[in-house]
Parts: sequence; C-alpha cells; structure tokens
Amino acid sequence: MEFTGIRALVTGGASGIGLATANLLTERGASVACLDLSGPPEPLYGVKADVRDDAQVRAAVADAAGHLGGLDVLVNNAGIGAQGTVEDNDDDEWRDVFDVNLFGMVRVSRAALPYLRRSEHAAIVNTCSIAATAGLPSRALYSATKGAVLSLTRAMAADHLREGIRVTCVNPGTADTPWIGRLLEAADDPEAERAALEARQPTGRLVSAQEVAAAIAYLAGPLASATTGTALAVDGGMDGL
Ligand code: NAD
Repeated sequence: MEFTGIRALVTGGASGIGLATANLLTERGASVACLDLSGPPEPLYGVKADVRDDAQVRAAVADAAGHLGGLDVLVNNAGIGAQGTVEDNDDDEWRDVFDVNLFGMVRVSRAALPYLRRSEHAAIVNTCSIAATAGLPSRALYSATKGAVLSLTRAMAADHLREGIRVTCVNPGTADTPWIGRLLEAADDPEAERAALEARQPTGRLVSAQEVAAAIAYLAGPLASATTGTALAVDGGMDGL
C-alpha cells in the first residue's frame, strides 16, 4: 500500500487504533494529522479538539488541512465505550456517548467534506464495531451508536459517490488497545476478564490495533478504489463463525 502524496486526518489519533493507523499511513508515505483531545506522540502532527464541539472541530479540521495542504482521507475513529443494558445508562449517558460516537463523526465529516471534494483520491473510513450487528450483552448504548455509524456509512457512501468520495467502515472485534486495558484494570479479576474476551473470539485472541489499522489503510487507499458503502470485519471471525 502506497500513500505518497496522500493527506490524511485521523480522529482519535493519539491512542489505540487511531494511533496505529496514523503510524501506518505515515510509514507508507502519507502526510498525517491527528485530531484528538490531547496531542499524539512526536513526530505526528496533532490538532486538538473535542469532537463534541462543532467550533473546535471546524478549527481543527481547517488547521489540519492548512498544514497538510488539503485532505484526501478522513479516518473517523474517535470513540468512547459504554457498558450496560437500557436500564443501566440514563438519558445523559445516552446523549453523551451518541455525541462522541455518532455526532462526532457527523461534525468532522461536515467540516472535512469541502476539502475532500477537491481531492482526486477522497475516502472516509469510519471505525464502527462488530457491536453494530453482533447483539453483545450489556452493550446496548454502545451498540446503538455503532449501529448508527454503520447506517451513516452506507447513507454517506450513497450521497457522496458521484462526488468521487468513497465512504466505508471497519468493524473491529475486541482490539487490544489502551481502551481495553482500562476496561481490564477496572474489572474485579482482570485476567479472567481478558480470558473471557479472548474466548469470545473464534481465533482465541484479541485483534491488534495494527490489524485494524491495516484494514483502515486498505479501505482508505487506491487498492479499494471500487469499494464504497462496505463494512469490513476485523474480528477474528467473530461475525459469522
Ligand atoms: P482508545 O481509547 O485507545 O482511543 C480512542 C481515542 O479517541 C483516544 O485518543 C481519545 O482521546 C479519543 N477521543 C475520545 N473522545 C474524544 C472526543 N470527544 N474528542 C476527540 N477525541 C476523542 O480506543 P480504541 O480502542 O483505539 O478505539 C478507537 C475506535 O475503535 C473507537 O471508535 C471504538 O469505538 C472503536 N472500536 C474499538 C474496539 C476495541 O475493542 N478496542 C472494538 C471495536 C471498535
């Protein structure tokens, strides 16, 4: 995969899947900016913004596009988790998680589209989740946000097809990132919890952030030039085996 000359913005690019994606795209020749609450590790270029704040998002996307000289690829990846059934999360929690996981992607896409329209190789890749379709227990709110991301991906693919902008998503299974690290730390028995997460995957292991990044890079790049509206599972066979 060759990304020389490609200008990419990765949200949630300071950690986990976003950071692995920013590093992979950079290694393959892309110019990359990371939008996140805090800066990415050096030497990645960071633009600080909370995806819940439209003004911050617009300023950060303009900063990134100015620094890179335009935008070809947007990786909408910033997201937060939530545990519980519909009885466990109150309205404020529902609004907050949707505000990040769904509306965050809407805001960043809205700000990035004018730049992407000027690109010859425009692509948006959204980090969705296997939770969008898997029916995972105690993940009602999180799953609902990702189900909405899947629908958004397909609708945006249709809307922007004729503008030459491809829109796809990846559906990771449980991926070994700082997020999962925090989840395990909070568990009563972290080792047993890790074993349970691994057992849920047919491969018996967690997906790595680099494996998800590889799928994102494929979808963002020229090898996927005929692919739009698609969800690519990177889940160790969890969906369907
Ligand atoms: P992570 O916590 O390691 O990284 C997420 C990044 O998003 C962080 O750098 C964080 O600062 C940023 N972020 C969070 N809220 C933000 C906000 N309001 N504004 C700007 N940035 C914000 O987590 P990760 O595991 O790398 O998750 C990345 C994406 O992958 C998320 O969308 C998540 O839903 C998705 N995902 C993760 C897994 C998994 O098992 N790790 C599985 C499926 C999908």
